Amino acid sequence: MSLQRYRELLEELEQKHRLTKQEYEELLMCRFSTVEPGTQQKMDQELFEKARRTQQQVFGKKIYIRGLIEFTNYCRNNCYYCGIRRDNQKVERYRLTEEQIFNCCVEGYALGYRTFVLQGGEDAYFTDQRICAIVNRIKSKFPDCAVTLSIGERSRESYELFLRAGTDRYLLRHETADEMHYSQLHPAELSLKRRKQCLKDLKELGYQVGAGFMVGTPGQTFKHLAEDLEFLQELQPHMIGIGPFISHKDTPFAREPNGSVEETLFLLGVLRLSFPKAMLPATTALGTLAGDGRERGILAGANVIMPNLSPIAVREQYSLYDNKICTGEESAQCFQCIRNRVESIGYEIVVERGDYPG
Ligand code: SAH
Repeated sequence: MSLQRYRELLEELEQKHRLTKQEYEELLMCRFSTVEPGTQQKMDQELFEKARRTQQQVFGKKIYIRGLIEFTNYCRNNCYYCGIRRDNQKVERYRLTEEQIFNCCVEGYALGYRTFVLQGGEDAYFTDQRICAIVNRIKSKFPDCAVTLSIGERSRESYELFLRAGTDRYLLRHETADEMHYSQLHPAELSLKRRKQCLKDLKELGYQVGAGFMVGTPGQTFKHLAEDLEFLQELQPHMIGIGPFISHKDTPFAREPNGSVEETLFLLGVLRLSFPKAMLPATTALGTLAGDGRERGILAGANVIMPNLSPIAVREQYSLYDNKICTGEESAQCFQCIRNRVESIGYEIVVERGDYPG
């Protein structure tokens, strides 16, 4: 009975690329209230097959890579889930110099990266002027590359300046689209309204925009996830980053259970069917909870990987969650490792910017 309904919903999603909030919730319930392992497997297989078909119609077997440069772990925010939150006194703080950031790009370019993602905590040291200077320098030296910023909430004016300096894309996960749930994950000074306003501003200004959420955060329900999917339908972002929540020992959520790999993979499949052209990364968090998590992410519909390009010396300190992988390897090793993984499942890494198609 629930398998039959599940199939109907999948069919509809594949045809229309959207479900209502109620239907998304029902789809999740069908899958995750099923206790029969054989049926669960069948359900996943059917979803992933459809997701791969959609993915390959748009992208073939191409996997895009983004070089991730974690350039500061100073943060003025105090998100309950995040290891680099303001109140964590145990993390050793660092910020890279412009020179160091630039050198990561030089190294990355030689390896074949054509997108650089500058990610960090919300660090007041990096004023608009400093960010623009860095972006400018990267874009002048590598005009064939895209630069993505992921530095949190700023004013519309700041976003406009970054854009004029040459920034192409902006990643700002909405984290959860439910007001109540948002306030369970963040202190009162942070608001979902503001987060959504930033995403709207970014989209209007003309960025390729990435939103997204964590899977399995404390208090998350299928209703919340259905709201996330509905919000994404409204926003129509170019990129959607999702990964399992992983607890960090020095945060208020230290004792909360991690999100599930299965649920994350399932949602990747649903996202691919909902947003055929979206750039969907198989995230490091997914690779942290399962050795083959990123490969399975690709096989569930993801088409992007973001290997680490940060200097080895600081990688441990960019500790959003516990046991993060890829902290001990040189960028060239990380790149090779990823290439082997991608090729082992019959896909190929390409030397391209990988912009949103069409
Ligand atoms: N300051 C930037 C970058 C945040 S780090 C911003 O606000 O956008 C990038 C993402 O890591 C976050 O958006 C969040 O979804 C994820 N993240 C943070 N802590 C995490 C945890 N404990 N487990 C899994 N993902 C986490």
